[in-house]
Amino acid sequence: MERKVSIDRDFIEEKMKEILEKGLGLSQDDPTFNKTPKRVAKFLSDYFSRLDPKSSELKSLMERHFPINYDGMIIKRKIKVYSLCPHHLIPSVYDISIGFIPNERSTGFSNLSKMMEILGKKPVLQEELTQEIVECLDKWLEPKGSICIIHGTHLCIPICGSKDEKPTTTKLSSGVFLHEPDMETKFTNMISDESE
Ligand SMILES: [Zn+2]
Repeated sequence: MERKVSIDRDFIEEKMKEILEKGLGLSQDDPTFNKTPKRVAKFLSDYFSRLDPKSSELKSLMERHFPINYDGMIIKRKIKVYSLCPHHLIPSVYDISIGFIPNERSTGFSNLSKMMEILGKKPVLQEELTQEIVECLDKWLEPKGSICIIHGTHLCIPICGSKDEKPTTTKLSSGVFLHEPDMETKFTNMISDESE
């Protein structure tokens, strides 16, 4: 779904003040809460701005690729990203591992971590994030195949009352990882704790 994002930080701050004062009966003279509207407005503006399809942040990062002569696997393992559940606006913590087999093109290792951060630090469903990461690798690096595994801890689940606190896992692959089951096994072995 193509989203239209238009952020008015002052409006969020003003309405947050109203929620605290009128909705929750908390005085803005209370030193614990008097900076809350400003902080919430900044936080929401930062996170929601990454939903904007016109944002050039990811493009300018992923355009920075270079030719490479390497046929092996490139893996970034267990990158932690603090995301936001779009249903409750409560944090989700994602533990993300990615791998790809380059096809004469790669990018800086830190760019890969930054890419996961740009895609993950917004209100996004875990399933969609998994899809976006594989699509991003495929689009910009055109590898022989790519894979992404995410273990997500969704704090909205225990906070909203359920006892199910176990992480949820999503996995998506493309190219050789899809067509050669051995490749996926190699990847999962390499990201497992025993490989440390
Ligand atoms: Zn939720």
